[in-house]
Amino acid sequence: MPVEIPYRRKLSFDYGKIEQIGPGIRRVIANNPSPFTFHGTGTYILGTGSVAVIDPGPDDAAHIDAIMAGLGAETVSHILITHTHMDHSPGSRRLKALTGAKTYAYGPHGAGKMESGVVVEEGGDMDFTPDCEIRHGDVLDGTNWSVECVYTPGHTSNHICFQLREAKALFTGDHVMGWSTSIVSPPDGDMGQYMQSLELLLARDDEIYWPTHGPAIDAPKPHVEAFIQHRIEREQQILNCIDEGVGRIHDMVPLMYRDTPEFMYPAAARSVLASIAYLVEKGTLATSGAVSLEGDYARTS
Ligand SMILES: [Zn+2]
Repeated sequence: MPVEIPYRRKLSFDYGKIEQIGPGIRRVIANNPSPFTFHGTGTYILGTGSVAVIDPGPDDAAHIDAIMAGLGAETVSHILITHTHMDHSPGSRRLKALTGAKTYAYGPHGAGKMESGVVVEEGGDMDFTPDCEIRHGDVLDGTNWSVECVYTPGHTSNHICFQLREAKALFTGDHVMGWSTSIVSPPDGDMGQYMQSLELLLARDDEIYWPTHGPAIDAPKPHVEAFIQHRIEREQQILNCIDEGVGRIHDMVPLMYRDTPEFMYPAAARSVLASIAYLVEKGTLATSGAVSLEGDYARTS
């Protein structure tokens, strides 16, 4: 039996309305729903009076206006970015212009390992450069909040989570979400790093996760364990395909994703590619030439 992922999808909210969702934590959701963003980008506001904003979202004036209007006389001291996909960081430019707050992120959008001939389908925000580069373990202090930076590459090479220390609440960006698995799409996405970043979370004592998309995860560890198990099962499915003589990603996807609508196959293929790249890295699989969507894969022994 495949592992059952304890998905969480129930969420009631109004677009553009700032809501108190925990002590020192508010959220407002941008109106950019899609198969990849669920209801849209959840922008979090930490503290009161002088606040931090996590992931201002897409370049959407209405969303940034909603943040500003909801904050009223409060000021923004920090803009924190989990990673540089188009639904997370572009809104920082408008918010920065309006508030003068500095942006904090691991770094600009990365290039990844397998650049040649691979088209990236998820949009990277190539115009973003943080004012302040942050690293694993860094602590950012506001007037009545403090945040620990937790580097979690995998979904992208610059993905970082933020823990509001007062609440032991981890803002997980797209690394761990309740409504869906994360997309790990080479070249910038890296399955080996993603798995390590899941293991990293298992060793922590966060009490609740607030992903950028969808509702909170109030029992983090079983959720992370299920995601790890799920990826291990995907690896096994790939190896089963190989052992049945199916060595090309194109032919694996319909066998592995029987319950997935066909329009999601290109995204699924990139996910399979990510797992295959990891299996090649570990020495389990090999191919002639570069690791790519078009490769023909076989066991090394
Ligand atoms: Zn993302």
